[in-house]
Formats: sequence, C-alpha cells, structure tokens
Amino acid sequence: MPELPEVETIRNELAPHIIGRTVTGLTLCWEGIVRQPSAEEFRSRLAGQKITGLSRRGKYLIFSLSSGELLILHLRMTGSLLLNPNPGDPDRFIRAIIHLDEGDNLYFRDPRKFGVMWLARDTSDLEKKLGPEPLTEGFTLEVLKERLKNRKAPIKALLLDQNLIAGVGNMYADEALFSAGIHPLRSGDSLSAKEVARLHRAIQEILWAAIGNKGASVENYFRPGGELGTAHFQFRVAHKLGGDTCPVCQAPIERIVVRNRGTYFCPQCQPRKK
Ligand SMILES: [Zn+2]
Repeated sequence: MPELPEVETIRNELAPHIIGRTVTGLTLCWEGIVRQPSAEEFRSRLAGQKITGLSRRGKYLIFSLSSGELLILHLRMTGSLLLNPNPGDPDRFIRAIIHLDEGDNLYFRDPRKFGVMWLARDTSDLEKKLGPEPLTEGFTLEVLKERLKNRKAPIKALLLDQNLIAGVGNMYADEALFSAGIHPLRSGDSLSAKEVARLHRAIQEILWAAIGNKGASVENYFRPGGELGTAHFQFRVAHKLGGDTCPVCQAPIERIVVRNRGTYFCPQCQPRKK
C-alpha cells in the first residue's frame, strides 16, 4: 500500500494542479523523509524550481523539475500527498510541506514514516530495479511467460517482486490470483500456458478497475483532495477477515502468510494442485 492504482490516481489528480507551478520553499517536519542529498541541500535545490511534469513508474511518483533534476517520491506503507488540506487540528503525521506559488501547499503525510523522497539526475537507478509496467503495450503475455520461466518461488511472491513486474503489491496480487484461479503458493514455473494467460489478463483488469475506482483506501490512503478511493469495495478476497466467504463458491476465505505477507485466497476456486 499504496500500489500502482493508488499512485496512478494521485498522479492523475495532482498533475493538473501542480504542473507549471513553482516551488517556493519546503518545510521539513521530519528530515528523515529525505533520502538524498542532505535535508539542507534538498531544501535549497528544490526552492525556485518549476514543476514541469509528473509521472509514475511502478509505485514511484516522479516530479520533473525545470533544472532537469527529478524529485522522486515513494509513499511506501502509509504515505499520501494532500493538496491544501482543510485547516483544522494540527496533523502530527505531516512530514513535509512543499510550498508552491499562489499560496498552495502539498503535504506529505505519513503516519508510519516509511515514505521517502529524493533528488535524482535521471531514472536509471529506478530502471535497474523495476520490471515492465503492467498496463503498457510492452507487457505482453509473452513477456509474462518469459519472466515466470524457471521461477521456483511462489507466484504470490513473484507478483510482489518489483523487478518482475512493477507496481503490483499485496492487495492486487491477491485479487489477480483469485481472478485467475491460481493458488498463491504455486511456483511460477508450474503454471500452465492457460493459467499464465488468465493471470496476465487478470493483472491488467484488476489494475484498470482499481484505477477507475481511484484506488483502495485500506490503510491511510487518501486522494490528493482528501477523498477516499473505493477500489476496496470491489475486493473479492484481499483483506477479507474472519467469516468472509468467497463471492463465487461461498467457501470461507483463507489467510496464509507467504514470504511475510498476509495472503488471502479461496481454497476451492484456487486449488493447491492442478
Ligand atoms: Zn471460491
């Protein structure tokens, strides 16, 4: 959390308000949120720059700056970006405020403090660790097949591997596996051609639908205007706890842990062996 659909929603909703705007200053409520350079240098290099673009790669948000540098931001577990939140009680989870011209302010809110931002010359470091974007034409069935070949790890873990596919996280991996009828512990190389095709389609359908629903507000995710997303209302297995049943066969949803990640699935619709 937030995953590709949440970050894409933030990008879509923030872009019209911040592209072309100038950063007038930065307030750091918690300096640890800056990965590089030093907090002081970060502040001075950001000030005066115009934001010329906003894009997403995987779960990263990338602000293009007039100097040619990039401001890269990762929200990790609980981060969100809020544009001009309603004044009210002081929010103790605000870690940084990017001040823009005309009095607008972009707040980086992050209760658990895992979020980070940094300045970079280009995206080469990101590209080294990120696989293909699942919603682009380049992500063909052949690409997915090739990437699962000889992979012994559980398919759930492979879907979370950002080097294999960028942007899929815990919630949408569970939803895609349910949709494709694949048990999360099946090894990548055990999937039949038909199963890989179902999974390929499921990943794209699940992500597009979640973008359409403006992301899932499961844990501290807010859209830039402070609204919640509604994608979690469409979840069929992800985050289903005690007593929830499969919407297809009514079997109780099961929870297991795969590589330290809580994983939800239907034991009947997603059989262990095929
Ligand atoms: Zn079922």
